[in-house]
Amino acid sequence: MSDVIQLLPDHVANQIAAGEVVQRPASVIKELLENAIDAKAEQIQVVIKDAGKTLVQVVDDGVGMSLTDARMSFERHATSKIKAAEDLFSLKTKGFRGEALASIAAIAHVELKTRPEDEEVGTSIKIEGSEIISQDACVAPKGTSISVKNLFYNIPARRNFLKSDNVETRHIIDEFQRVALAHPQISFSLFHNGSELFQLPKTNHRQRITNIFGGKTNEKLVPVEEDTDILKISGFVGKPEFAKKSRGEQFFFVNDRYIKSPYLNHAVNAAFEGLLKEKTYPSYFLFLQVDPKSIDINIHPTKTEIKFDDEHALYAMLRSAIKHSLGQFNVAPVLDFER
Ligand code: ADP
Ligand code: MG
Repeated sequence: MSDVIQLLPDHVANQIAAGEVVQRPASVIKELLENAIDAKAEQIQVVIKDAGKTLVQVVDDGVGMSLTDARMSFERHATSKIKAAEDLFSLKTKGFRGEALASIAAIAHVELKTRPEDEEVGTSIKIEGSEIISQDACVAPKGTSISVKNLFYNIPARRNFLKSDNVETRHIIDEFQRVALAHPQISFSLFHNGSELFQLPKTNHRQRITNIFGGKTNEKLVPVEEDTDILKISGFVGKPEFAKKSRGEQFFFVNDRYIKSPYLNHAVNAAFEGLLKEKTYPSYFLFLQVDPKSIDINIHPTKTEIKFDDEHALYAMLRSAIKHSLGQFNVAPVLDFER
């Protein structure tokens, strides 16, 4: 029989990969925000139109890209963040797969403008369906601006699958808040159809939480701190009486990355045992720092799940740190009473 196997053309491979990385406009926001943070931005602006379906733009004041890097950034598996397999065990950056820009450029109309600090002119590139349409020198501020227009323009099934503007905007706000919570030292803004949704100045974790969730949040927060050889915890849990009927305000960050972890969530609930009314959920904003060697974040392309080497130890430490904080907090009413 004759041979039938062929290598897929790049733009087809990119489009397939895009299916995993980009589910909706919010996924684009997440990838672009992470790139801006990896580029050491201090100020990041997000602009969206029509819930991101027409436009997602992220503007940063980070290190920018040289002309060659600007072209390379759209190649698949092209990254400045790792060089060898062993680098996967000491990751300090959000990105490392070198897939996001290639994927996004395969399924949208993308415009990149970028300039590193030490160059006078910047580079502007337009790319559509993985094909570079134009490349020019341009005037640009230091940093990078990436506009992603008409997401899924060439995959009608995906485009039709997008939800209402309200739902897609909610997803965008969720991603934006997760990233903003993890990086209070960076200022962020978010504009939708010309109106400002968030304007978050540089600050600390406590104030960033309050800026996002409203002024009253501050008085609900109980600090949680722990520092051991394998785990550093900082952050806050909400006082039990403010527990909500939904799970909206529950956040874990590991090494400044938002993650989902039913297992660690269970540890928090265990610490709250006996303190909560039925069917209510405590708020928490917990920032864990662990040795990058002790986790594997490569188990899913969107990197919201990670694998810990020693899950049981983390569980026990987290539970006991929260119990301790809640215990200290519970002492207060007794003292009041004695006075
Ligand atoms: P990854 O982030 O996994 O490396 P991406 O496809 O997201 O892959 O980006 C490819 C490369 O493009 C990055 O490694 C980085 O060198 C460069 N890059 C992307 N976004 C920016 C940005 N906002 N500022 C500076 N460089 C960027
Ligand atoms: Mg990236």
